[in-house]
Amino acid sequence: MSLSDVPEVLRRGRATHRHFVVTFDDAYTNIAGIADFLGSRKVVPTVFVNGAFCEGRPYFRVLAALLRDYGGGPALRAELASLIPNKEWSEKSDKLFDQTKDQYVAGLTETAVAAAYNKTIGVAADLRCHLDAAELLTLRKRGWQIGNHTWEHLTLSALDDTTAADAIERNAAYLKDANLEPLDWLSYPNGLARHVSAGTKAWLDRNPTKHGLFAGGGINLFYSRTQWLRISLGNPDLQAFRRILAHNAFASSRLATYLTDNAPTASAR
Ligand SMILES: [Zn+2]
Repeated sequence: MSLSDVPEVLRRGRATHRHFVVTFDDAYTNIAGIADFLGSRKVVPTVFVNGAFCEGRPYFRVLAALLRDYGGGPALRAELASLIPNKEWSEKSDKLFDQTKDQYVAGLTETAVAAAYNKTIGVAADLRCHLDAAELLTLRKRGWQIGNHTWEHLTLSALDDTTAADAIERNAAYLKDANLEPLDWLSYPNGLARHVSAGTKAWLDRNPTKHGLFAGGGINLFYSRTQWLRISLGNPDLQAFRRILAHNAFASSRLATYLTDNAPTASAR
């Protein structure tokens, strides 16, 4: 089914049928290559888009991975140490790559990675690893749906509330201006519970038509406006895919039972 149909189905009560929705985050160019395949199977995907990426600035983790793989580790370490001197930065490229996530500082990490990339590998904008607005419009015209993934993918919990709200709203305006007709859905950048904050919740409270989507696993058995769940698949083979689904179904079902059994009674509320 399409993402826009999901709330209505679960608003009626606990899910009784198996449905699935396909979503993509960050609008990488390789997803356009499977449009015919998905269309032939009547799958309507949703792409969660970052306006800054559409405008030619690649996601910093892509640049960091290339630096790791093509000898850019020392340059990256130097930039990180200069911009974020209060943290230890590893001399091992693998570890350093992980640190760009684990020791992330919104804005500064991005600047350090981009500077190292431009000094050692080339022009980041030339990578063209994200779809631009015109390419997304082509997919939209084929029926694909477009969602908000914030302007430049900064972790919302790392921002103050005003900056976080700007990151969401600037992107919504960009998608609207590009005629992409964005859904009322926000995919939280990085997508784990620790990547959102009370400020994210406050923004959702001020915008009661919006839905918020995580990416840390789980199957949606109940309606929830701000805590929709999603499984990040990567690129598993069929057997691994089945295992992931079974694991998520089991965990979600156990949690649903726990929540039902421990729901506050009217007197305790
Ligand atoms: Zn993302």
